[in-house]
Amino acid sequence: MATQGKLARTEETPLAARLKEEIARDGALSVAAYMHACLADPHSGYYISHQPIGSAGDFITAPEVSQIFGELLGLWAVAVWQSMGEPGAVILAELGPGRGTLMADALRAFRSVPKFLASVTVALVETSPALRAEQQTTLKASPAPVQWCKRIEDVPAGPLILLANEFIDALPVRHLVRQDGVWCERCVTIGLGGAFVFTAGEAVQGDSLPPAALDIDATDGAIIETRPAVAPLLSTLAARARHAPLAALIVDYGHEETGVGDTLQAVHRHRFADPLAMQGETDLTAHVDFAEIKREAHALGLTAYGPMPQGEFLLKLGLGARRDRLLRQARPDQQAAILSGATRLADPREMGLLFKALALASSGLAPPPFGDI
Ligand code: SAH
Repeated sequence: MATQGKLARTEETPLAARLKEEIARDGALSVAAYMHACLADPHSGYYISHQPIGSAGDFITAPEVSQIFGELLGLWAVAVWQSMGEPGAVILAELGPGRGTLMADALRAFRSVPKFLASVTVALVETSPALRAEQQTTLKASPAPVQWCKRIEDVPAGPLILLANEFIDALPVRHLVRQDGVWCERCVTIGLGGAFVFTAGEAVQGDSLPPAALDIDATDGAIIETRPAVAPLLSTLAARARHAPLAALIVDYGHEETGVGDTLQAVHRHRFADPLAMQGETDLTAHVDFAEIKREAHALGLTAYGPMPQGEFLLKLGLGARRDRLLRQARPDQQAAILSGATRLADPREMGLLFKALALASSGLAPPPFGDI
């Protein structure tokens, strides 16, 4: 993108200038509104105006680390389709498909299952015009039909298998901060020196409090995070699950139990940055609270399996055998990259433990592969 990375660290971005005006006019922004603006502002939001992924971008994701990731998730989808009774028409949807790499690798794996390939339509849910264009290039030789949707609600009806890798972490988080014994909306405002700062906003009480706030015995200064977009996303899935079989695989970085703490982080050019600076130029994410997803899923009648550490999940899906097969077929100069990619995905000291896989399924569906553990 034309402007990407050109700003000096101290310079104010156009989005920062606009947010300052907005705060001066209307008051502090909630953390969720701030994060939403930074990522999805229609003019200057990070995902709208950047191609963030890859060595020339800001961060690397599992499908970009190794082709094995997309291939194994593709085989997971085939196994789920088989457990659905091999419906003759199935949608394979992906939320936030990035550069389209995961889906391209999955589609290659499907060539060994022609019956699945003949049944599947791919639906990619993407808001970023830049990434959508890149996905179109990556998938132009797709052996199955591919369509793009702006929202999950627009994915065609029918049996659905859904993949979401590093998608939920990019959905805005809401922060509540404990002050004088009550929970307050944590907000972003402008400090005396003119820089963006966090502040405690209005008290939040009663029904507006998320369940986590009721369960946690917190002292002043404690912060809890919730993701307001999770419940509507899961209720869309639950509504579909009432009409047709559905299974979803969510892979992301995060924690198994709801806890106290601020995990909002910014990444720029593969380094951590200040979440309150360079608005629209850094990738803002926060840990996924898998317990929150499971709680909401159960309340909506979906069955949740896991989360399981990514390393364990991929090893059970056959990462070792796939790596060894690729090594046998590779030229000597390709072997080191295959080995290091597979290790990076699965090693607990790299992505293997922090990243986790959670499966959701409509009731009546057999547990998806390794969901039963
Ligand atoms: N899954 C990819 C990309 C992860 S980055 C990979 O593993 O490489 C997050 C992705 O989600 C990007 O494609 C981004 O454009 C998309 N995205 C972010 N917010 C979105 C939203 N609200 N709806 C749809 N896509 C979104």
